[in-house]
Amino acid sequence: MAENSPQRVVVLGGGIGGQVAATRLKQKLGSAARVILIERSTTFTFAPSLLWLMVGKRQPKTITRDYSGLSRRGVELVHETVTGIDTSASEVQTESGVVGYDHLVVALGAVLDPERIPGLSEHTHHPYDLPSAERLRDALHRFTGGRVTVAIASLPYKCPAAPYETAMLIDGYLRQRGIRDVSQIAMYTPEPLPLPVAGPQAGYSVAAELAARGITFHPRTPLEGVEPTALRFGGELVPHDLAVVIPPHRPPDVIAKSSLAGPNGWIPVDRATLRTRASNVYAIGDSTVIPLENGLALPKAGVFAHGEAEVVAENIARRIRGDLREEAFDGHGTCFLETGGGKSGLARGDFFASPVPKVAMHRPGRSWHAAKIAFEQYWLRRWL
Ligand SMILES: Cc1cc2nc3c(=O)[nH]c(=O)nc-3n(C[C@H](O)[C@H](O)[C@H](O)COP(=O)(O)OP(=O)(O)OC[C@H]3O[C@@H](n4cnc5c(N)ncnc54)[C@H](O)[C@@H]3O)c2cc1C
Repeated sequence: MAENSPQRVVVLGGGIGGQVAATRLKQKLGSAARVILIERSTTFTFAPSLLWLMVGKRQPKTITRDYSGLSRRGVELVHETVTGIDTSASEVQTESGVVGYDHLVVALGAVLDPERIPGLSEHTHHPYDLPSAERLRDALHRFTGGRVTVAIASLPYKCPAAPYETAMLIDGYLRQRGIRDVSQIAMYTPEPLPLPVAGPQAGYSVAAELAARGITFHPRTPLEGVEPTALRFGGELVPHDLAVVIPPHRPPDVIAKSSLAGPNGWIPVDRATLRTRASNVYAIGDSTVIPLENGLALPKAGVFAHGEAEVVAENIARRIRGDLREEAFDGHGTCFLETGGGKSGLARGDFFASPVPKVAMHRPGRSWHAAKIAFEQYWLRRWL
């Protein structure tokens, strides 16, 4: 590379991790680097707010932004689909060509894969992307009482708390509409307890919140099949009037077929530096797998994608400036847990703690709910 010519840093994916990485890289490096963000979508929806949208508390436009804010900060936006990653040639392929890089940050997230389970798309709802959350909102609006089943189809899935928040927000919504007493809500998961990665205290406290709302909880109960008006668990058909099933997740194809993928298709990374096995290539967020000492993996959550992006941006900026010291991602994270009725709890902890993550749960209250709204507003103003 000729001296003084700007380095080319390419970020794949403009979700939570990619936005933070690209913004910080440009802030830190200015004219010393071209920061190119490749993102197929022209708009970004803040996923945590989809749960409020599902119960009519947000409109799509209030939680969706275009990428003009990033362009104003000097990030070069390319709205295309990434079709290949060739680490031996230091280039990525898109639908229309090839983009070379000096440093690459992969932040392509996880793909929802409802088609893996026959009948799931046709007969169930979920709040995990904008069009689906809107359809669920409409179905809830039409609902006049009956049996609601909330289920987690398979592991891993994004945001360990979100399915439990979904069940409790639906509880709050049905109460507000005066039809909770003519409805039953049941929650099924293959997990042994809620939020297993956070330890038993966190799990029991979420289970207690479900019980306090009359939501029956069925742990260690994988989904076995989907019928038009029933789900099959443990060999039995459980009929419902409304089913909300968090669909299976898989790694993006472009990752699974690349040399970066590990045996299960996700990208193994060094947990401190987020380096992959390829030189000058980092991966952050939901596309990665980071094993923990308790045998589970770091959850797929925006809070970690964000923290990892900060570390990677700092370390790439240092390398470009010739400073070889490295910052380390420390596995700390905080997550609000919406419980309905204008309240949230909070889980906060050190997920890299040895031998098990150290996570404290704070009881649901109005102040955590207000803090969750403030965080949403901060995110939507700050990053796009
Ligand atoms: C309903 C819901 C609630 C949630 N609540 C919380 C919460 O309260 N707290 C929390 O921490 N996390 C929460 N999460 C999880 C959080 O949203 C994700 O963990 C986070 O977005 C991961 O960031 P990421 O950058 O890895 O991936 P993403 O944010 O998913 O971004 C990936 C980006 O890559 C783009 N992309 C993918 N493939 C290609 C391709 N081939 N070419 C070009 N672009 C591509 C996608 O369009 C996307 O913009 C929630 C998620 C959901 C669904």
